Amino acid sequence: MRYDYIIAGSGIAGLYAALLAREHGSVLILTKGSIDECNTRYAQGGIAAAVGPDDSPELHLRDTIAAGAGLVDEEAASILVSEAAERIRDLARFGVPFDSVDGAVALGREGAHSQARILHAGGDATGAHIELSLSSLARMSQITIKEFCQVEEIVFEDGAAAAVETLDTRTNTRETFEGRAIVLAMGGCGQLYRVSTNSEVATGDGVAVAYRAGAEVMDMEFIQFHPTALRLPGVPVFLISEAVRGEGASLIDADGRRFMPSYDERAELASRDIVARAIHTELAASGADRVYLDITHLPPEKVSARFPQIYRYCLEHGLDITKEPIPVSPAAHYAMGGVRTNVWGETTVPGLYACGECACVAVHGANRLASNSLLETVVFARRVVERTLEEENGRGTVDRTPSAIALSQPGPGETPPPDRPELQALMWEQVGIVRDEQPLRQATVALSAWQSALPPPSDRPGHELANLVLCGRLTAEAALLREESRGAHYRRDFPEPREEWRRHIVFRNDA
Ligand SMILES: Cc1cc2nc3c(=O)[nH]c(=O)nc-3n(C[C@H](O)[C@H](O)[C@H](O)COP(=O)(O)OP(=O)(O)OC[C@H]3O[C@@H](n4cnc5c(N)ncnc54)[C@H](O)[C@@H]3O)c2cc1C
Repeated sequence: MRYDYIIAGSGIAGLYAALLAREHGSVLILTKGSIDECNTRYAQGGIAAAVGPDDSPELHLRDTIAAGAGLVDEEAASILVSEAAERIRDLARFGVPFDSVDGAVALGREGAHSQARILHAGGDATGAHIELSLSSLARMSQITIKEFCQVEEIVFEDGAAAAVETLDTRTNTRETFEGRAIVLAMGGCGQLYRVSTNSEVATGDGVAVAYRAGAEVMDMEFIQFHPTALRLPGVPVFLISEAVRGEGASLIDADGRRFMPSYDERAELASRDIVARAIHTELAASGADRVYLDITHLPPEKVSARFPQIYRYCLEHGLDITKEPIPVSPAAHYAMGGVRTNVWGETTVPGLYACGECACVAVHGANRLASNSLLETVVFARRVVERTLEEENGRGTVDRTPSAIALSQPGPGETPPPDRPELQALMWEQVGIVRDEQPLRQATVALSAWQSALPPPSDRPGHELANLVLCGRLTAEAALLREESRGAHYRRDFPEPREEWRRHIVFRNDA
């Protein structure tokens, strides 16, 4: 079957791109699970846009650049902040019910934003509202949607991406779909880590498929760890939004001691990487596996109204957060890196586009400003569709990076292949919140051996594991190379930023 647009992924990036693209041709959405299984639906805080009376795109840009620790692409970030208001209007037009107060849009404030500029929907249920609004519209439109269809590889014709090979994850049958423009919107790789806020579908497939196809991949060492994920025995990891700390919650240890003031003068409102490392240090010193987030100082009705999803989720698992502190620990949360694109979503492979969390246009640099990621997905998904209209046949491309490096070919070895928990444990322990040369070196060796030991994948778990191992290698190799600390990447042996490292690490598979 041939379509004008093949869009891989049905989170906000894929759905929004598809809803725009349907105006210009036939659209096929391929998605690995059910349409709504993705990271988008779990987003809580909201989406950033400088729409408040005292705000401006310039202020938003300043905050974005400051958070990114020297690696933000200023052209891309300027586009991000200046196109934000228009994209919010599009989302509202597509049915996203943003919250309002007295007829004006309600704006929350989050860490490292100098203004209140976070739009939300249903309090802390922003992502669920976005996902459901867009997916119901997509279902009602002419868009063809194939669920449980995993994109495995890109097929080339005359040197350009021309089709995708897929696997039906229920029947294990293969099919190829041809497209004029192929758009990867396959989300992040949070499943690399033992503790993660990400959906089970976040296995880095977009990065892995693109890397194997010869596209450049950038900034893979920058993984944002969220400091506060719910830590209850037997309960799936669940994000406790930053906004809870924004409302004055304190972080305390098992003895009730508040520890953040001794790490940073902003205490609980320090940036995510600082808070995550502080908790990591506390846990390493005490041997405990959790600290506590205490919001019991607020009136119960305020807590349940401001954080309905968190309140309900905890209550369902036997914890009343209006009465007891919330047990939390850090968790892998967001991948700043991904498939390298220009500001039109073009990759280094002709005909292949990427947007959303699997892409990297360097608007986040080394550290994402909270709530900029949902914004990035829509700003650059729109530009992908615009570009396909300008380009005669959707075959644009971005210049290749002269200094790009390739992963070494893994040699034959005796190591047995890993399972996913083994991989996640290795990444958590050795390529995690605090990094050091020796563990990183061991991790790169183990990952390379595992890559060569993996049998050719034949089903969804096999493909996901192979993709995770590849993403793990890209992350670990970049983390080992980057001999400094910057943004979310922290090296105990190089605790400061170094000017010579104010550059991106780019991988390209030239094989
Ligand atoms: C718990 C949580 C809270 C967050 N809160 C916020 C927030 O408040 N504000 C903010 O800005 N950001 C937030 N983020 C980040 C933000 O939600 C994501 O960056 C964003 O939703 C990514 O959108 P996406 O469309 O790129 O990817 P996703 O929404 O993850 O969608 C990826 C899609 O690709 C599909 N897919 C994957 N592999 C394949 C394959 N091989 N073949 C076919 N389909 C495939 C998946 O099934 C899925 O449909 C949060 C993230 C999490 C996990």
